[in-house]
Amino acid sequence: MQTYAEEGAPIIERGEGIFLFDTDGKKYYDSISSLWCNVHGHRHPRIDNAIKFQLEKIAHSTLLGLGSVSSLELTERLVKLTGMPHVFYADSGSGAVEIALKVAYQFSVRRKGKSCNKFVSFKNAYHGDTLGSVSVGGIDIFHSTFKPLLFETLFAPSPYAYRWPTENCKEEALKKFEEILNSFEKEISAVVIEPMVQGAAGMILEPSGFLSEIRRMTAERDIILICDEVATGFGRTGKMFAVDHESVKPDVLVLGKGITGGYLPLSAACFTTEIFESFLGRHEEMKHFFHGHTYTGNALASAAAIASLEVFEEEKTLEKLSEKIKLIEDKFSKLRSRSNVGDIRQCGMMAGIELVEEKATKKSFPLEKRMGHRVTIEARRRGMITRPLGDTCVFMPPLSSSLDELTAMLEILSESIEAAIGDN
Ligand SMILES: *Cc1c(COP(=O)(O)O)cnc(C)c1O
Repeated sequence: MQTYAEEGAPIIERGEGIFLFDTDGKKYYDSISSLWCNVHGHRHPRIDNAIKFQLEKIAHSTLLGLGSVSSLELTERLVKLTGMPHVFYADSGSGAVEIALKVAYQFSVRRKGKSCNKFVSFKNAYHGDTLGSVSVGGIDIFHSTFKPLLFETLFAPSPYAYRWPTENCKEEALKKFEEILNSFEKEISAVVIEPMVQGAAGMILEPSGFLSEIRRMTAERDIILICDEVATGFGRTGKMFAVDHESVKPDVLVLGKGITGGYLPLSAACFTTEIFESFLGRHEEMKHFFHGHTYTGNALASAAAIASLEVFEEEKTLEKLSEKIKLIEDKFSKLRSRSNVGDIRQCGMMAGIELVEEKATKKSFPLEKRMGHRVTIEARRRGMITRPLGDTCVFMPPLSSSLDELTAMLEILSESIEAAIGDN
């Protein structure tokens, strides 16, 4: 907050398409989709109108003991889209992760007994900022402060190829993961993973085949797999969901961020029938899942989410992505040879450029240089909003960005990196 106040961050007043406008009327590209959630651009008429239309009926009514038309319609669509037959709504990604963890725990204890109180996650994982989601988080700077407050999680290595000591990142990481499963099989409630990309850690890409191996090993041992698609869902990786890249079927799928097109807070944890049915019983059996949020399944948010899914169909959003993804790849390939560009990682419309002080040794810049942040400041001057993850510059534009807009943003990013490193 100290430097934030000193730097005078822009105050955003309105948006249009992929642009944001601040209170001085200055226009910026929104190159991080307003923290990874905007999908079809700001003020999309279809989504704007859906919210207005819903507002003329009702803004919110509870799902505790009642249903609501818009949340039911959304559920029907999500079930078709994900193949997961049961949906539980919350209002943030973290909240939906909590639901996934609590359900997985209650389900596993009931089946396997009380010893089932451990989760398996990955180093560098990010699943949100509430204490349950922090317990399965593996980013030390975010999470280590809270360690005394957290439940026990076993951390498998992050498949971070760029910083893995050998060439066999995938095999060695999977081997360690399997050892953990074998050592603690009876005590594990669930494995939690960000499929394909560890986003908040700096867009770390899982090697091809990694996710499907994790699924195979968990299925063999009858351990629940929770796939947290809060960042990767809704087209971000080039397919509707990241699990689609390896045809993986999780037991629990967690959705957030892009679910409403980036308009309103809504998230969901989606479950298999087996899990759902284990919570059914006569009242006095008390098999309930005691969990419910005030704004669960909010009607305005559901209306926005339905409209966003309609836009996917009408505008053929996914079909149009491949040439955009290719364009980003092409522009990035020119950056690879730059002296301080250590690694470039891209999965669809989700990308990071890791800057390093010394390319040969992969030595990071010292913290006080705030190199990632310097790029942000340079980009801001050039009319683009971005937000780094440490010294990894993030490029995560709305899926609706045109080829020209992408080219312009990538040009600004490239210039900003050069300027930030130049003054170093
Ligand atoms: C952002 C994110 C979350 C947390 O979502 P919030 O809505 O910020 O609580 C959880 N998991 C992943 C993978 C995320 O990227």
